[in-house]
Amino acid sequence: MRLYKAKNTLSERHVQANRQADAKVPDDLWRTCPKCQRTLFAAQMDEYATCPGCGYGFRISAKQRLSWLVDSAIPMDTDLQTKDPLNFPGYAAKLAKAQEKTGLNDSVWTGHAQIDNVEFNLGIMDPTFIMGSLGTITGEKITRLFEDATKRRWPVVLFTASGGARMQEGIMSLMQMAKVSAAIAQHDAAGLMYIVVLTDPTTGGVTASFAMEGDIILSEPRALVGFAGRRVIEQTMHTEIPADLQDAENVLKHGFIDHIVARQDEKSTLAWLIKYGGKQND
Ligand SMILES: [Zn+2]
Repeated sequence: MRLYKAKNTLSERHVQANRQADAKVPDDLWRTCPKCQRTLFAAQMDEYATCPGCGYGFRISAKQRLSWLVDSAIPMDTDLQTKDPLNFPGYAAKLAKAQEKTGLNDSVWTGHAQIDNVEFNLGIMDPTFIMGSLGTITGEKITRLFEDATKRRWPVVLFTASGGARMQEGIMSLMQMAKVSAAIAQHDAAGLMYIVVLTDPTTGGVTASFAMEGDIILSEPRALVGFAGRRVIEQTMHTEIPADLQDAENVLKHGFIDHIVARQDEKSTLAWLIKYGGKQND
């Protein structure tokens, strides 16, 4: 009994000391890979932010991706603003915070881009903007990106990252799925190429529409690709699902993805595909 008490006192002291030490360490000093649990020193991560253990690409902002993906880029539709159609409580403040953090007006960056003198229209969804959710302006920007590409006879490359529809915009958010799909159909009817790159996570209404409508569907290693989340599936099916069920590697096996590309190879792969596979300037 005495021994137990002494041990207990010692561990309490250790816990206190650890808490004090923890308080001195900045939160963003270490990052743990959510796929293989390897702990990484954040300062040693390069601009690609990938895990050296399993190749997983950490969630990065659209601006960070843009910094290494293309040779040059000109943004489009930066002045569009959502009108908070439902006057959803707290939404305006949340939106303003996300806009300040990302420098974007909504959860996607769109514009004209160039790699190796090949021009195309590019969209990059930002998972740090309200989980990359599909808002009205997100849908409008992607629609305009395709309409502009159809006029120019340019291919489109779209990086998807989304938690799904944006509940604060209700049905207006869901309508974006149909609107974007219609613009993609027109682009397709004009014989132009659309390449999707799925990044972690691509789920919900985005998977149920434009993420799966590409002529070529690429994915980053270990990206979560699915429709419903794990908890929803397990509650509906009353069964546990395998840990890797929604990993890109497993989705690839079932034919939903054409190829998995490491971040470091994305620029050259896209340039090659557009140069040789696209019907640019027919
Ligand atoms: Zn890893």
